[in-house]
Amino acid sequence: MGKKILVTGGTGYIGSHTVVELINAHHEVVILDNLYNSGISVLDGIRDITGVKPEFHQIDLCDKERLDAFFAGRDDIDSVIHFAAYKAVGESAEKPLMYYHNNLNSTLNLLDAMIRHGISNIVFSSSCTVYGEPDKLPVDEQAPVKEPSSPYGNTKQVNEQMIRFTVEAGHPIRGISLRYFNPIGAHPSAKIGEAPQGIPNNLLPYITQTAFGIREKLKVFGNDYDTPDGTPIRDYINVVDLSKAHVVAIERLIDQKNKKGYEFFNIGTGRGHTVLEVIQAFERATGQKINHQIVARRPGDVEKVYADTTAANQELGWKAEKTLEETLLSAWNWEKAYRQNKNEQ
Ligand code: NAD
Ligand code: UDP
Repeated sequence: MGKKILVTGGTGYIGSHTVVELINAHHEVVILDNLYNSGISVLDGIRDITGVKPEFHQIDLCDKERLDAFFAGRDDIDSVIHFAAYKAVGESAEKPLMYYHNNLNSTLNLLDAMIRHGISNIVFSSSCTVYGEPDKLPVDEQAPVKEPSSPYGNTKQVNEQMIRFTVEAGHPIRGISLRYFNPIGAHPSAKIGEAPQGIPNNLLPYITQTAFGIREKLKVFGNDYDTPDGTPIRDYINVVDLSKAHVVAIERLIDQKNKKGYEFFNIGTGRGHTVLEVIQAFERATGQKINHQIVARRPGDVEKVYADTTAANQELGWKAEKTLEETLLSAWNWEKAYRQNKNEQ
């Protein structure tokens, strides 16, 4: 029997899309999530898309005893994709210890359990935030990791280091960190997608909620940056494309193709778009007008960042495929389906 892949945070936004792609690639999946930022109904969405309802355990990774009890007596797991974390940059500045507690203890407990239970492979969700404001664009993996601008960003750096040093210490663990640029969009079926609680912090859910009439107006944070239209530039990566990067990364570890033991890759499209370009592309793709207004810069925002993805293209054999327009349309279709579902409940 083939081994199973444990997906922590697997009912979350990127985790659920990755579970779908893992099942599509004929892997068996076990999800572990404490449902802090996701709902159990996500499992139904996964089942509707794939025909498979994955095994699920509601466990907090910070609960060392329960995590250990989960691993005890099961020898069917050899790999982990580790998404579980808190992810709101602004909130992390207000509640730093809450972020350090959750995002560090979870990985610490997981690595510890992996060593004790003979689990070798880990793919970790990192972020381009580790590069801060890069000196050179597009930014490649040789670029230095910068002083973190938030506790959240710091937890990503420390998590990467925890995995790297664990591998380098000679433990039988191999790891890959994927540094995501800006994940957006939803599965084309509109059965799963991003469902932020409360007022969204990120651009795309704010746009789709404004289009739906839940928010009155999108605030565009600054138009005095050194970019063609003055608004910041990001590399917006489709969540399904991003999910497929996890499939190739975990398969690379399972097949022992990563000779270095620990590696890290940028996962983006390689192209940058300004905020105003995203709004215009959304309007083109969906026919919805986005009421928006330029306001002051948001503290801590970098001016421009987009990926050099040569390493992921060549080493992982992975490349982003979806266009910005189809990605934005998928986000809109998900927003509509999600709202309709909520109304019917
Ligand atoms: P998400 O909040 O939708 O998913 C994270 C999941 O982890 C949630 O279901 C949550 O309930 C769970 N979780 C959190 N703490 C847990 C714990 N202690 N024990 C068990 N489960 C726990 O977030 P996402 O957007 O899917 O992000 C997934 C990962 O990718 C995170 O590590 C995030 O930091 C990283 N990342 C996200 C983005 C982004 O823009 N979404 C960008 C770069 C990196
Ligand atoms: N942004 C914006 N209005 C919003 C949310 C975001 O203008 O309501 C801008 C933000 O300044 C940044 C880009 O959209 O330039 C992406 O922001 P997001 O928070 O989605 O991701 P980040 O790159 O900050 O992690």
